[in-house]
Amino acid sequence: MKPAPFQYVRPASAQEAVALLQRHADMARLLAGGQSLVPMMNFRIARPEVLIDLGACAELAFIDREADRLRIGAMTRQRTVELDAGVRAMCPLVTMALENAGPVPVRNRGTVGGMLANCYPAADLVCAALCLDAELEALGPSGIRTVPAHEFFIAEFTTALEPDELLFAFSIQCKPGRRYAYRKVSDHAAGAAAVAIALAATPPASATSGWTDVAAGALGFDSVAIRLSTLEQGLSSTAAPAPAQIARWLADDLAQCGSDPAEPEAAYKVRAAAALVRQSLPTLLHPER
Ligand SMILES: Cc1cc2nc3c(=O)[nH]c(=O)nc-3n(C[C@H](O)[C@H](O)[C@H](O)COP(=O)(O)OP(=O)(O)OC[C@H]3O[C@@H](n4cnc5c(N)ncnc54)[C@H](O)[C@@H]3O)c2cc1C
Repeated sequence: MKPAPFQYVRPASAQEAVALLQRHADMARLLAGGQSLVPMMNFRIARPEVLIDLGACAELAFIDREADRLRIGAMTRQRTVELDAGVRAMCPLVTMALENAGPVPVRNRGTVGGMLANCYPAADLVCAALCLDAELEALGPSGIRTVPAHEFFIAEFTTALEPDELLFAFSIQCKPGRRYAYRKVSDHAAGAAAVAIALAATPPASATSGWTDVAAGALGFDSVAIRLSTLEQGLSSTAAPAPAQIARWLADDLAQCGSDPAEPEAAYKVRAAAALVRQSLPTLLHPER
């Protein structure tokens, strides 16, 4: 298949890209790594009249490390972020999510901004960003506004970006002593996550206390990544929950998305997610193993 005819433009700056978005309104699409958009155009699911290539906007590709904050530009390639030693040291959950995000050739071209802005239901970095309370920076005609992750990711292929805005960067506050795990069960037919679990927590101070600063996210429970609030509360109250207890917390989180945990597909997702959580907890306690 070939895409429908379109006009190709390659602005030299992010500001110029925003001006083009303003001028062409709904007829334009931004091109980042092209790993999702180009196939959609080839199948004519997407038919933009104007394609705005962000490839020459050098200010969108960066990794900034401050004392306790990591800030990453939207056009930074997924593989560049994944292999960055500073990112791994400050916030390994970002590294782990990207290691799980499709084949290496796709990660070589695909950008972190493309994955976040596309908001695909199985987007691994969306799950990690939600779990980490990331902040997303939207650049529009009046400058940058910052949107918390829980407000940015609205539904599949839908974010809080306005039609004349682009994603400029995202940032994460990194907490010393916090541990991370990211695990996924792939749906091989779809080539993406059937279920994925992201966990961030500080280990319990004693055998009788719970985990602190717990955050948990999941893919596969809803049309977009969600936070697992019942699991978060549960892990905050006990260091070593029983397998059946983990499954009950996850069934409750799934039910809050409108699914009946007794339905076969939902029951499978709960079982898969519970297994991923059980595998993750020892790794969080002993990351060196
Ligand atoms: C074979 C294959 C397997 C994959 N497996 C996985 C997987 O397991 N997990 C996973 O998470 N992903 C997976 N993906 C998706 C992949 O990670 C894509 O790279 C990513 O979704 C899009 O990134 P991109 O830079 O290529 O964006 P593009 O395809 O260029 O753009 C995607 C969309 O985002 C918009 N966009 C891009 N950049 C911006 C921006 N800065 N501001 C606003 N809008 C923007 C575009 O207009 C477009 O609508 C897979 C893709 C393929 C082809």
